[in-house]
Amino acid sequence: MILTAPYYHETQKESEVFSHAFQNKIPMLLKGPTGTGKSRFVEYMAHALEKKLITISCHEETSSTDLIGRFIIKGAETVWLDGPLTTAVKEGAILYLDEVAEARPDVIVAIHSLTDHRRELFIDKLGETVKAQEDFMLIASFNPGYQRGFKELKPSTRQRFIALTFDYPEAKIETEILVNETAVDSDIAKKLVAIAAKIRNLTELGLTETVSTRLLVDAAKLIHTGLPKRLSVHVAIVEPLTDDPQTIQSLKDLVGLMI
Ligand code: ADP
Repeated sequence: MILTAPYYHETQKESEVFSHAFQNKIPMLLKGPTGTGKSRFVEYMAHALEKKLITISCHEETSSTDLIGRFIIKGAETVWLDGPLTTAVKEGAILYLDEVAEARPDVIVAIHSLTDHRRELFIDKLGETVKAQEDFMLIASFNPGYQRGFKELKPSTRQRFIALTFDYPEAKIETEILVNETAVDSDIAKKLVAIAAKIRNLTELGLTETVSTRLLVDAAKLIHTGLPKRLSVHVAIVEPLTDDPQTIQSLKDLVGLMI
């Protein structure tokens, strides 16, 4: 259970959508680039609905066994250990599969029967089917990444979810988020947001992902604890975005003019 309310700035009636999805037992897909508040939103909703939240950060090695469970050797015995998905299904928790498209295909197969009217999980290693507890809810996030290097989700999977797009918030809201998250001076927050807007518009740089709110929060934190502003922006925003020396130099020049 999340005890203190996480700070989350609503941008598109997303909490109302989430509450209705929860009420109707419809799984939800949060689409959008990294660092746009998807995970924070799920934490915020779990707190608001007073539900336990189980998060799984999916990567290319994540398999259905990691989610469902496995037999382990304990002394002279072999015992079954529920995985996080099975625990969530049994306890009626909110299960958040972060970056679901990164996981191995058997993960998608495993969740299918949980995303339709059956709401049940088949545990093949036990030959058992577990009915989801009333409050179980499945949330997944997905980065559509219009450029190369991102995995896709099949229509047959996508259409099992209702979906919301998360994007970088408008300048006023993003400034408010920086001030709230880091207590940085609002003038500095405004400058950071302006730098982000500028870089986000520089499509010719061909960055795989551009400046996220997360990077701005990091820069604001460093500035707030006294690291020089340009250095903060350099290490928190410029360097994480690219390894190409020329692009780093262009971004450095640009930032130098703005802060
Ligand atoms: P994602 O899950 O989309 O990768 P996160 O939820 O981890 O992104 O967000 C990254 C950081 O950005 C958060 O830790 C928070 O500081 C900030 N953030 C982004 N959007 C919001 C928002 N709407 N309200 C509050 N904080 C936000």
